[in-house]
Amino acid sequence: MNGGVRPSIPAARFAARLGQAAEATERAGIGALLIGVGSDLRYLTGYAALPLERCTMLVVRPGADPFLVVPRLELAAAEAGLRTPVEIRTWDETDDPYRLCIAGLAVDRVAVSDTMLAMHLLRLQDALGAATRFELSSSVLRDMRMIKDPDEIALLRLAAEAADRVVGQIAAGRLVGRTEADVAREVRERLVAEGHEEAHFAIVASGPASASPHHDASDRVIRAGEPIVLDIGGSLGGYGSDITRTLWVTGGDATRGPDERFRDLFGVLYHAQQAAVEAVRPGATCEAVDAAARTPITDQGYGEAFFHRTGHGIGLDGHEDPYIVVGNALPLSEGMAFSIEPGIYLAGRYGARIEDIVVCGQDGPIVLNGAPHELCVVDG
Ligand code: ZN
Ligand code: ZN
Ligand code: ZN
Repeated sequence: MNGGVRPSIPAARFAARLGQAAEATERAGIGALLIGVGSDLRYLTGYAALPLERCTMLVVRPGADPFLVVPRLELAAAEAGLRTPVEIRTWDETDDPYRLCIAGLAVDRVAVSDTMLAMHLLRLQDALGAATRFELSSSVLRDMRMIKDPDEIALLRLAAEAADRVVGQIAAGRLVGRTEADVAREVRERLVAEGHEEAHFAIVASGPASASPHHDASDRVIRAGEPIVLDIGGSLGGYGSDITRTLWVTGGDATRGPDERFRDLFGVLYHAQQAAVEAVRPGATCEAVDAAARTPITDQGYGEAFFHRTGHGIGLDGHEDPYIVVGNALPLSEGMAFSIEPGIYLAGRYGARIEDIVVCGQDGPIVLNGAPHELCVVDG
């Protein structure tokens, strides 16, 4: 990132989200949202707290101001991290923080953040008593978090463009003779160099390993005459990137290009991925988008070889709602952001995947990734 001011979420947005969350909590008939460390906390307040065993908890109540319970030693970090004024209540090492969290709460239903650690949840359940019913905060926050505002989309776009550049750099570099793990290390370094604060994953799956969708980059040495599935991502300004491209390395030997079977498989995949992207528009269901990818793959005889969902939502979390999967009748709305990533995997032989991050626009898909989708045949 050279010069310019990186877009970020304006401070006023957090106050608005807190207000909307309190209203949605009230509409749902829930007494309070208890939000532990994680993406919900960051979404509502801007505070990206460290995941610690000590209790940090945001309490959102209808008709009352929210407050944040933090260990005293995290006070300065919390003050620095909050993007909107929230009352902070600290606890000392020997205090019971759960009593602080539920102070003044007499409720029969509370919602807790989906990723709250069980060690905190069980203590809250003890503190509130058996009469209180516990639910997940996603029942309240899902609708808000699924629809990205223009600032969030700008960050997703920056993350996607940075990941695009890394794919281009890796495809242009040396690959044959290096281990997958070595290439993965380079991917992580380049993601950070291109503006990510963190690289979360770098799948480098070569040869037969390309048939395993979540192959962990290993000490396998990449050879000429095989494919590499490159699936990489991280976060930029808190928002995720996630791109997959499939390469074929020839080692500079024209006789070691992709065989006919692979070309066929890749052609089917390419058109299926494109069809699913084109199916994206407001009102189309998640499962219809999945079907747009799955049907042509099945029709061409590769149905058994495409055994995962077509995509997942992306935002502050790398995987979040909406899920592009059979059985999800949720209609897409403008502002939803998700991956479209069909794959075809022939066990023991090879596989391929193409993945883009797509935003549902008013009139159709807005594809955030610009890296070419074609099979990338390189000397490597
Ligand atoms: Zn995946
Ligand atoms: Zn991916
Ligand atoms: Zn993905």
